Amino acid sequence: MQKQTLLKHWKDQSLFQEKYLEAFKKVKREEFILKNYKNEAYEDIPLPIGFNQTISQPSTIMIMLQALEPETSNKILEIGTGSGYNAALLSILSPKGKIFTTEIIPELAEFAKLNLKEYKNVTVLNIDGSKGYKEESPFNRIIFTCAIPKIENFILEQLKDPGILIAPVGDKISQEMIKITKKDLQIKKDNLGNFIFVPLKGKYGF
Ligand code: SAH
Repeated sequence: MQKQTLLKHWKDQSLFQEKYLEAFKKVKREEFILKNYKNEAYEDIPLPIGFNQTISQPSTIMIMLQALEPETSNKILEIGTGSGYNAALLSILSPKGKIFTTEIIPELAEFAKLNLKEYKNVTVLNIDGSKGYKEESPFNRIIFTCAIPKIENFILEQLKDPGILIAPVGDKISQEMIKITKKDLQIKKDNLGNFIFVPLKGKYGF
């Protein structure tokens, strides 16, 4: 499939707001994947990036980003940098913000740093993101791009009020996409449906 075809498909279905389509247009997914898969860059499927990890399916990323509602100057934490593709989209969606993205596998953190060279407001951290990143907290937005067993209280404490957190929560086989909205000291929880992600590792992982 061509990038244009995928975009047209989304437009026809009115699935995503214009600003998310614009961000998708700007970032070259083909530059975040392995050479062997370049021809499949705009198929709506996850692709391997080595080390048993995957870059998520484009439509899944779009659903998560739209639910995250990033604003122009947000401080955002991502857990699961992988290729860096999602962080690049966040960088476009929050151009005056700061994106901190954490990756536990050193080789992938290096891979992402190279891929993200032009995205100046993104910082890649080779750390265990299951603990969040207290040093830079609180964040306006937090996004997990790997499956997590539960949303820990200390993670909610790293989220600003008001703030939004998106995470696939469940077991290793399948998860529910949970959106947490923190506002006026209240926590609202929505379920956006079922998805399958690679599992979170590290101290609070599986
Ligand atoms: N957002 C990525 C895809 C994420 S795949 C992209 O756009 O390409 C999930 C990633 O989470 C994997 O790279 C995996 O190594 C990483 N991961 C798993 N456990 C982690 C942890 N505890 N801290 C940081 N990253 C972790």
